[in-house]
Amino acid sequence: MNKISLYLFLPILLISVACGSYKKEAPETFVENIQSENSDETEIKEVVLPTERKVYRETRTILSDIIHTKLEVNFDWANSQMNGIAYITAKPHFYTSDSLILDAKGMEIKSVSLNGKDLKFNYLDDVLKISLDKLYKRTENYTVKIDYIAKPEDRKLSGSAAITSDKGLYFINPKGEKKDQMTQIWTQGESEVSSVWFPTIDAPATKTTQEIYITVDAKYTTLSNGKLISSKSNSNGTRTDYWKQTLPHSPYLFMMGVGEFKVVKDSYTRPDGTKMEVNYYVEPEWEKSAKAIFGETPAMIAHFSKLLGVEYPWDKYSQMVVREYVSGAMENTGAVIFGDFAYKNERELLDDNDQSTIAHELFHHWFGDLVTCESWSNLTLNESFANYSQYLWDEYRYGLDEAAYNAEEEAEGYFQSAQTDGYHDLVWFEYKEKEDMFDGHSYNKGGRILHMLRSYLGDDAFFKGINLYLTANKFKATEFTQLRLAFEEVSGEDLNWFFNQWYLGSAHPILDFKHYNNKEKSTVTISIEQNQNLELAPIFKLPIEIAVFDSEGKHIHKVVVDQLQESFEIPYKGTLNCVIIDNQQMLLAKIHESKSMDQYVFQYYNGGSFKARRDGFVEGSKGNSSPSEQLVIDALKDAFWNIRVLAIDRAAKLKAESKIKATEIINALALNDPNSQVRSKALLFLISSIEQTKLEALLLDRLEKDSSYLVASTALIAMGKVNSELALVHAKKLENEPVSKLLTGVGAIYGEFGSIDLYPFFERELVEKDRLKSFDQVGLVNSFTIFVTRQDLETFEKSVKVFEKLKHSGDAYTKMYLPQFTAYIQKIMSEKVGQLNTEVIQFEKNKNEIYANQARENIKRYEALNRQFEEIGVSPSEK
Ligand SMILES: [Zn+2]
Repeated sequence: MNKISLYLFLPILLISVACGSYKKEAPETFVENIQSENSDETEIKEVVLPTERKVYRETRTILSDIIHTKLEVNFDWANSQMNGIAYITAKPHFYTSDSLILDAKGMEIKSVSLNGKDLKFNYLDDVLKISLDKLYKRTENYTVKIDYIAKPEDRKLSGSAAITSDKGLYFINPKGEKKDQMTQIWTQGESEVSSVWFPTIDAPATKTTQEIYITVDAKYTTLSNGKLISSKSNSNGTRTDYWKQTLPHSPYLFMMGVGEFKVVKDSYTRPDGTKMEVNYYVEPEWEKSAKAIFGETPAMIAHFSKLLGVEYPWDKYSQMVVREYVSGAMENTGAVIFGDFAYKNERELLDDNDQSTIAHELFHHWFGDLVTCESWSNLTLNESFANYSQYLWDEYRYGLDEAAYNAEEEAEGYFQSAQTDGYHDLVWFEYKEKEDMFDGHSYNKGGRILHMLRSYLGDDAFFKGINLYLTANKFKATEFTQLRLAFEEVSGEDLNWFFNQWYLGSAHPILDFKHYNNKEKSTVTISIEQNQNLELAPIFKLPIEIAVFDSEGKHIHKVVVDQLQESFEIPYKGTLNCVIIDNQQMLLAKIHESKSMDQYVFQYYNGGSFKARRDGFVEGSKGNSSPSEQLVIDALKDAFWNIRVLAIDRAAKLKAESKIKATEIINALALNDPNSQVRSKALLFLISSIEQTKLEALLLDRLEKDSSYLVASTALIAMGKVNSELALVHAKKLENEPVSKLLTGVGAIYGEFGSIDLYPFFERELVEKDRLKSFDQVGLVNSFTIFVTRQDLETFEKSVKVFEKLKHSGDAYTKMYLPQFTAYIQKIMSEKVGQLNTEVIQFEKNKNEIYANQARENIKRYEALNRQFEEIGVSPSEK
């Protein structure tokens, strides 16, 4: 499962003018943009010592094996219920038994039978205990028939950050009341809620083959796991689709999707020349964009199959985009679901594509679907690989810099999530709720650990190791030990030291790195200290490479850091130019180092990898020496876009001549850089660097001609700073473009400069329509907040219902930042009350009772509003 970047670096927004922001970057023109406090100074918090033994989350004992699941279902749309008949073929796992215990959540069980004879059953607290007709041995299969009604709406919901609901089966707009929204049914089984729509042993270690007969009105398209075997029209205007998967998988991976979807067909050619269907299920208006969105899928299947040495194991690969989805995306075997964030037109895809998520869900088809974590404690066996696939795809498709850049974002996501929610072992047997496992540890940290292991073992051993893990455990469930054993068998090395510290340990190394140049001996002494909190984290064993740059070039020294304090003396020839610890830039660690400015400048030019270059640039460009200034000029031409973005940021601080030079380069970047973030950043730089008429012409040109919505939106916002009248005219023209990024740009202009007649725009985009994505919605809410606080009391009052709606159905970021917005509104209102109080005194003095009463009345209204905003600003009690 993927959670739409929940653990990516989150900027803290404050009220000011927003702009269309991209993915993980902080919105640019938030004037008081406070970065999260010391985000690169993650220190481990105080440890609270336990007062009682924690619960051990054991893997569920297997009493029975489910061998096959056959379902016949149809839907009661009016009541959002499903009528089902389940045929469960099972046998005792080992010990002879005369009962079968199934999970069946919130159902009505009508009857249970075996070979036509009714069986006794007991259905209590979501557990269906069936008394079989006799004792069965483990060699004897039996098939029970269960007639039931699934009632997902009657379920009490819990949910978590990763999965915002646990109904299992979802009816979207079932009565067609919302005109703009497609009527749909879809399922979401992870972690243990497939048992809302069919009785099963709802645990990841269960593996069953499946058949589903889905009966729907003829107008609907259906999707499920496996192959569509037949499609039969019934006399009553319905149709029954029969889907069958002959390879076993876990119940949480079962999927059904129903709606008037268009099926865009694509295909993957297997090495033996046979073709496999790769289909994209989208709403009709997205039919033409489906290949632009998902079109890399066949290339990904080919790449991953080859890399793993295990051919894609399933019948087909389909991806469906649904509405009101409760997670980011889900790896249902061969029938993946995406939330509607995936709907992007070709122009939007220039700024932001979802290949990381596509790769993530696809990679689960080996890690999760083929080999499954046996318990949620071992979830990282699914999610770390899916997370790491994003690196593997970027590396192959876009190069090492892009992969390393995203890896840094993932690491930052882990640091932040751990700081917020606490540290725990990667394989965690003591979690409170199983949903707690879907966090920055299982995903981000796990992914970075795999990368460290790859770096340590080398590509050959690493990929042979995971090939062995997959082939030895296919169609089974595993613990992390099986992963270790596979790597040990391939490499010949005892790897407990690695797995103990990273899988059974908490936190990460915090390293202090210093070096001293012993000029008389031509050696450099490198000292490394481990400073992590040892009540929580182990003393790590870290095999690393140290790169020493001298007059003869770069020399790599392999060392093992495994003490709290250690030093290594390394010889060099001629002049010592720079030392880089962790030459491969693979460690998941916080590294504090002190180097001279010259060394950082050297590191930028010679460090090679993205992180070494980035760190060299960030530190080396801090000074105002001429090498530092030259570094900024050169970094503007760096091959990697993110470093160009950083360089544009830094260019504002350049001195006269360097700044003229930089401005010329940035002017060219604004027009021609292949990356839209660079072009956008360049425009923002130019606001304060070129003269107004030239700037206006440039902004107009970009607004009309740039292929990227991000750049167009930035141009509009920049125009607001130069000529607000003109910006309002252009905003008005773009108001009806149904593109998330442009709408936030329009909102930013309206927010800061717009008059009351523009209120309906905000209401439309924030309440009626649902087309703002991710940061764009929170950006527009920010603009709306500014807009409201510039208007009269009636507007404040009107805005309450918008904020209330956002509190309940805004997206994750909006909900997260809502208290900041309401606090800002409250602050402005209390200023207004202050003014009114002064007015009251003034009116009383002048004996102007009517006006004084009016002002008092308004104060009351503001105070009432204040209470309402107070209420909205209180975040709903989390789990
Ligand atoms: Zn996942």
